[in-house]
Amino acid sequence: MSLSLSERSGDIFINGQWAVEDANQTLNIVNPFTGEILTRVSESSQLTVDRAVKAAQDAKWEWARMTPKARAACLIEWADRIEADVDNLVALETLNAGHPISTVAGEVASAADRLRFFAGAGRLLEGRSAGEYAPGYTSIIRREPIGVAGLITPWNYPLLTAITKASPALAAGNTVVLKPSEQTPLTTLRLAELSEGVLPPGVFNVITGLGETTGAALVTHPGIDIISLTGGTQTGRRVAELAAASLKHVHLELGGKAPAVILADADPLAVAEAIKWGGFWNAGQDCSAATRIIVVESAYQGVLDALKDSIGSLVVGNPSDHATEMGPLTFAGHHRNVQGFIERAVESGAQVELGGGTPESDGYFIEPTILTGVQQDSEIVQSEVFGPVITIQQASSDWEAIDLANAVEFGLGASVFTENVGIAMEAARRLQFGTVWINDHGAVTAEMPWGGFKQSGYGKERSVYSLEDYTQIKHVMVRLAK
Ligand code: NDP
Repeated sequence: MSLSLSERSGDIFINGQWAVEDANQTLNIVNPFTGEILTRVSESSQLTVDRAVKAAQDAKWEWARMTPKARAACLIEWADRIEADVDNLVALETLNAGHPISTVAGEVASAADRLRFFAGAGRLLEGRSAGEYAPGYTSIIRREPIGVAGLITPWNYPLLTAITKASPALAAGNTVVLKPSEQTPLTTLRLAELSEGVLPPGVFNVITGLGETTGAALVTHPGIDIISLTGGTQTGRRVAELAAASLKHVHLELGGKAPAVILADADPLAVAEAIKWGGFWNAGQDCSAATRIIVVESAYQGVLDALKDSIGSLVVGNPSDHATEMGPLTFAGHHRNVQGFIERAVESGAQVELGGGTPESDGYFIEPTILTGVQQDSEIVQSEVFGPVITIQQASSDWEAIDLANAVEFGLGASVFTENVGIAMEAARRLQFGTVWINDHGAVTAEMPWGGFKQSGYGKERSVYSLEDYTQIKHVMVRLAK
């Protein structure tokens, strides 16, 4: 295995071999802290997509026929290699995605943990019943892999999302063609290197390229049996539309606009500490980031003051510096988008309580920002900003706070802060989100499901529910001897 990108003989990984496209079909990969080009990768053509899908098709019967125990052994070895490669993976994610070096080792550990969880969970897959349901017949349920999974990942957690998608797909016996984001392919390519000699050729293939060309070619390809996308809601709609022509299985993990509902008895300091991380982890580039802080009136001023203190203390800077808590945004176009959201919010009457500016730097930084005086139907409250920006709203009662929390098109994650168990449980019941945290925001685990309600998509990631999403049910009916 090579240690640097330049030593690898390509950036397209098909059937266990590295390849490149023509030199004029390349994409620049940029360091978001300096704005400098780190390297270039291929923009995969239709022919390359065809080759990758064919390799996955050719490998799928053998991989599906292996026992779950044998597949698990491969996934565990891959996890071991990922853990042993932590320094390289951390360096690559920090350089390419701008994640603070102090947080990325945790992402690598979570990736290895998810692989190990699914390696074990794949050995427990079962059909619900076997028995006699018609006179003279026995019925058996088989849970089978779907076939070739096309996985499309975003730029915000490149390594972790690649593994989150690949591990249940592979554990359930599918083969994979993965397209990482055009912005952040480097750790995914490293994962492919680490899979060499562990996963049989053709089981895990990676093709780099643009969503609208390479990604769409994967979505429409007749040889792909299930498409799983993590991305924006608009992209999700487009992918579902494209996939409909061939009636593929579709699994969509889309955008979010998470509320944190703060009730009167919540401790402002504990809330502020939870939102510092729940809202600003990865510079707010997180689908479940706490972006809408909704506070009942009596607690409002105390919570606002505590948030200004805690968020104002975030150490923003070079992601390679161990003291840094928040790095730059991941690419220039996104930096402009986030600036635009702040400017339009201020033009329409929002007050800047903290930040709001863009520090003088070559990197794509935005100051941690708190806005107040925002209307529920305003763009800043309704749209996913995906940056270090939160709004704070007031509610006149607990249940009005919950209604405001629900009044967006997204339904991915939400939190409620209160010491009252009865109110917390009723709030959890009313909140229309796939995950609800009580007295925290953002904690996740491999064993528990993750996925959206409403326009945040459908299908689950992590947990046994995700494993099941990558399988299909077959009924085998046997005529018994008389
Ligand atoms: P995008 O929707 O822009 O892109 C996601 C992936 O889809 C990229 O690989 C992109 O390619 C590809 N893509 C774009 N258009 C198409 C197309 N027509 N056909 C096939 N593939 C396509 O999302 P971002 O990368 O900007 O990621 C941020 C979004 O992801 C946010 O909305 C965030 O909320 C969401 N997200 C959701 C999560 C969840 O668990 N629900 C978790 C993390 C993020 P390209 O390489 O060109 O970008």
